[in-house]
Amino acid sequence: MNITGAELPRTSVSGMPRIGARRELKRALESYWAGRVGAEALSAVGAEVRRANWVAGAAAGIDLIASNDFSLYDHVLDAAVLVGAIPARYLPAAGPPGLDTYFAMARGGSVAGVALEPLQLTKWFGTNYHHLVPELGPHTRFAVSSDKAFGELAESAALGIATKPVLLGPLSLLRSSRPDPGFDPLSLLDPLVQVYVEVLERLSEQGAAWVQLDEPILATDLGGADLAALAKVYRRLGEAGQRPRIVFCTSYGHVTPAMGTLVDLPVEGIGLDLCAGPSNVDALAGAGGLGARALFAGVVDGQRPWAADLRTTLAVLESLQDQAAHVVVSTSTSLLHLPVSLEPETNMDREVRSWLAFATEKLHELGVLADGIEHGRAAIAAELEASDEAVRRHERSDLILDPAVRARVSRLGPNDDRRAGTPESRRAAQAARLGLPVLPTTTIGSFPQTAELRAARVARSKMDMDEATYAARLREEVSRVVAMQEELGLDVIVHGEPERDDMVRYFAAQLDGFALTQDGWVQSYGSRCVRPPILFGDVSRPEPMTLEWATYAASLTSRPVKAMLTGPLTMLAWSFPRTDLSRQDVATQLALAISDEVRDLAAAGMAVIQVDEPGLAELVPLRRTECEAYLEWATRAFRLAVAPAAEDVQVHSHMCYAEFGVLLPALARMEMDVLSLEAVRSAMALLGDLASTGSPAQIGPGVYDVHAPRVPEVDELAGLIRRAVSVLGPERVWVNPDCGLKTRSYAEVAPVLANLVSATQLVRAELEAEPAIVVPA
Ligand code: GLN
Ligand code: ZN
Repeated sequence: MNITGAELPRTSVSGMPRIGARRELKRALESYWAGRVGAEALSAVGAEVRRANWVAGAAAGIDLIASNDFSLYDHVLDAAVLVGAIPARYLPAAGPPGLDTYFAMARGGSVAGVALEPLQLTKWFGTNYHHLVPELGPHTRFAVSSDKAFGELAESAALGIATKPVLLGPLSLLRSSRPDPGFDPLSLLDPLVQVYVEVLERLSEQGAAWVQLDEPILATDLGGADLAALAKVYRRLGEAGQRPRIVFCTSYGHVTPAMGTLVDLPVEGIGLDLCAGPSNVDALAGAGGLGARALFAGVVDGQRPWAADLRTTLAVLESLQDQAAHVVVSTSTSLLHLPVSLEPETNMDREVRSWLAFATEKLHELGVLADGIEHGRAAIAAELEASDEAVRRHERSDLILDPAVRARVSRLGPNDDRRAGTPESRRAAQAARLGLPVLPTTTIGSFPQTAELRAARVARSKMDMDEATYAARLREEVSRVVAMQEELGLDVIVHGEPERDDMVRYFAAQLDGFALTQDGWVQSYGSRCVRPPILFGDVSRPEPMTLEWATYAASLTSRPVKAMLTGPLTMLAWSFPRTDLSRQDVATQLALAISDEVRDLAAAGMAVIQVDEPGLAELVPLRRTECEAYLEWATRAFRLAVAPAAEDVQVHSHMCYAEFGVLLPALARMEMDVLSLEAVRSAMALLGDLASTGSPAQIGPGVYDVHAPRVPEVDELAGLIRRAVSVLGPERVWVNPDCGLKTRSYAEVAPVLANLVSATQLVRAELEAEPAIVVPA
């Protein structure tokens, strides 16, 4: 595997954002799904997004520009389709899979008149990107089933730009899939590798000099069988008759346990993430280096939006020169996790902006670093000086350090994260104050965001509507939503969150320490994008954030109103993090800022406060050995946030994902009184586990799936409630949907909530008639 020749690449990009600088692809997809445009228009927009990325790479002088990093929905789905891992139910008609099959797998839909559920979605290696989960089983038959990778290679060549096709590697594809129960996905390895061999041959025939095989799974804990399989697979691929040079690309963390295997793989390049996994440097040296292979040194951060410290990075690159025959300056991951460009961000604080680099700016950094390596520091003296100056300004900026916040954190005592009372005494105090019936009903917070609401928000942001008119409009919405809940007979009322466009951004806008982007959209899944706030400095809360809405709603009803907050872990998970302070310390600051809000809400008489933590699971480390430390500081941050809630203030939390895994035992340490969660899609399977963790919390397993456009009947809902009661006992069960209602319409929400209340009344009556007998569903 000697890597020689005059044309060794200096720079490589693992992948680019693919939703379009102005979210063109999002709009095209949604128009296509709505039937407003055809497949040709959609494909033209995709081609334009790819062209823009290739041209940007070429303009920055990047040697290995990625192709096949684009996707109409998800690159894991693309990989499954490439190798033909398409479950039979998506192929009711004969013939090759078309766009309707692809989108049915992605988001449900109908193929040849048959209605189909989509594949499951799950998180991609600790990022906020979600991928589809392919299904594998004994019936899986692999065969090259898509021309996408070949088509994109030809398309870039036609533009005069040679590209490096990117493929999800075979091991990561198998391990990112869901095997049938009892089925070992590794048993599919041989036929799968055969397909990859064919793909490599075809790419080589088409003229690809390099191919990138992504194996992010190496950043997780793998067993010996996986490492043995890895060695075997890559031996086969390495021996393929005709193939491009292979860069075996890892990302999202260190790969220390596998390093010994990696340095022996018969491939021409190994990619290491030196940003999320700086310990890779020592691990590589420990394994004796890469010998005659090239090291694709992932020094330009693909996950975080900060400009590189060029001098420090250059020193890292220099220190790596004797670990490999050649060093290629690379991104640490695909740039998919970053906005396209800083250019439109004209409203941002200029100083903060000067510390940032988005995807386009990162391309430039790669080139500068490569020049520094090739021609020496003198060749990039001006860039180094500018970077040094930016680093100095950043470090010394009084925007990032708030002495009052630091002092407050350092004063924290061992009991400041403890609520008053015991679970039992809180329960009694809350029961006395709230007087709720058995099986209390509530919702998760948001009500439908109507077209009128969205229009008002847009008008307000363009200054076409004055603040007073906008606020009046929102108050009207709150009073309508409160009246509706009273009429429906819900027990704990919410204000409906009409003022929030995004549960993290709304709070970030009101906290010190955050900057917001105008156009910094990042793909979350499919056509869904978010604008993560940028957490650059110490966090504090100058003014109450939600008090006005909560107290206004409370003034409209005699029933208890639940105030809604986003929790510290979710604020952290869904923002771009700072790198000069540990996540643990940032979480503590966020927790204190939110605790200020909890204190104010409680002082204003709010008896129920919900602190949402759907992000708690997203920060769970990829490696099991790091989980306990995470759960220690994460649960403490949550407790700090809710600690000001007195015994008679009921603290709710909400989490929505199907897999609780390592989180289950941690829930009991969070000192919440009521936890609502997603349960419909996991068929309430969680309840038994929850019942046995010793969590004192009452639990609201979601009985209505907010993601499905259907209205469940009373009987179906009653069945789910009975089932929850049979596992948890009637005293612990709340009845609620499984997430916020903001993406649904009132036409669905009104009958759903009416059925939910009727179902609850039915089960209450059964319990009253025969309290001892709970009929399992
Ligand atoms: N309170 C939020 C809502 O109802 C919770 C959203 C979430 O869990 N992602 O919209
Ligand atoms: Zn939710």
